[in-house]
Amino acid sequence: MRIKTIQAQEILDSRGEPTLKVWVTLQNGAMGEASVPSGASTGVHEAWELRDGGKRYNGKGVLKAVKNVNVYIAKLLYGYSVADQRKIDMAMIKLDGTSNKHKLGANAIVGVSLACAHAGAYSAGVPLYKWLRRSYGLRVKSYVLPTPLMNVFNGGKHADTNLDVQEYLIVPHGFRTVREKIRVGSEIFHALAKVLKRAGKDTDVGNEGGYAPRVSNNEDPLKYIMKAIREAKYKPGTQVSLGVDMAASEFYDPKTKKYVFTIPKKNALSTEMMIKLYEYMMHTYPMLSIEDPFAEDDWDSWVELMRRYTEAQLPLQRKLSFPPLIIGDDLYATNVERLKKGIELGATNAILIKPNQIGTLSETMDTILLAQKHMMKIVISHRSGETLDTTIADLAVSVNAEYIKTGAPSRGERISKYNRLMEIERELKEA
Ligand code: PGA
Ligand code: ZN
Repeated sequence: MRIKTIQAQEILDSRGEPTLKVWVTLQNGAMGEASVPSGASTGVHEAWELRDGGKRYNGKGVLKAVKNVNVYIAKLLYGYSVADQRKIDMAMIKLDGTSNKHKLGANAIVGVSLACAHAGAYSAGVPLYKWLRRSYGLRVKSYVLPTPLMNVFNGGKHADTNLDVQEYLIVPHGFRTVREKIRVGSEIFHALAKVLKRAGKDTDVGNEGGYAPRVSNNEDPLKYIMKAIREAKYKPGTQVSLGVDMAASEFYDPKTKKYVFTIPKKNALSTEMMIKLYEYMMHTYPMLSIEDPFAEDDWDSWVELMRRYTEAQLPLQRKLSFPPLIIGDDLYATNVERLKKGIELGATNAILIKPNQIGTLSETMDTILLAQKHMMKIVISHRSGETLDTTIADLAVSVNAEYIKTGAPSRGERISKYNRLMEIERELKEA
């Protein structure tokens, strides 16, 4: 299972921006491929996404990263066995030599890392989710498939509207199979279109496939979604809950230490006021998750929210069979060192995992395993700029992640992950 060639090429992602696709071929003829996603509300602690600068693609070209794969990484990894993913990832980290993969580019490195895993799985004749268990020696036996967090209402940096909050999600948790959960999510998504049309709102979609009309305040999307859940004949709270990704780093002002909302009018909120806002949300709506409620380095606010929140009496939440999630995304950037700090401080009870935030599969796995050891819930996630690559679906299944966040049930690059999950579910049932 030794590597023969590695080749990368510049392709376009779902926003029409350049990214990389990587092919790894082995000496036995097996091949694996992976395409690299890209964020818009990128955290400052993420590994470095190498872009060319200059005129091509307004500076966003990735030909330097492509060259780094085709010349330096291909030469480095020639003859490595894909059965030893850790060795491969460590060799690339060493060759790069910087703390944030600045030299080779995390986009170059992660593309190779994922493609190697695919080649290994293909060569071994097993699906990727099984290969990952084998290759990392994971001792879990049974499979628990993830529940989708579906972003049906796009705002923030993922839409061209006035909405401050980045994502409003539905979580169809009260159903047994992934297939059912996806069906229910899709039915509610279409019910939401009808609700919005009746309210005179347009139903064009944003970067992650969710609707993206202008609204008069940041609460309205929650009301529309609640209406859609009821009209689709599902029970909010027991069958379908809600989530938000505040992506709060995007509207944090570090000078005043305030969170600045722009609708219905400009309003700068202190940590205390933000906590009140979250308490209001949790009491008024069946909130299952709040992601990035505070900025990526505002640790104190995270800790205070968690403290108050775990002590609070939340009657709605009590009816749920699992505790609501405070998810760290930009806060952790899938980085094990930042996670360690979060664990020590008690900053969250869940973590968002994006392989391209850290740059290798092995580091991603280490972060997941540490979070699981500390009983944190795992949400494997896409990026707002995506391709048809479905690696995250297999990754979620391999580690028994509780959740997967991969956009609305709409648009090819979002759907490809949901379809892959349904495929895996059928395969496991047949086995
Ligand atoms: P991004 O958004 O891919 O634009 O960073 C996703 C998220 O914030 O969860
Ligand atoms: Zn996020």
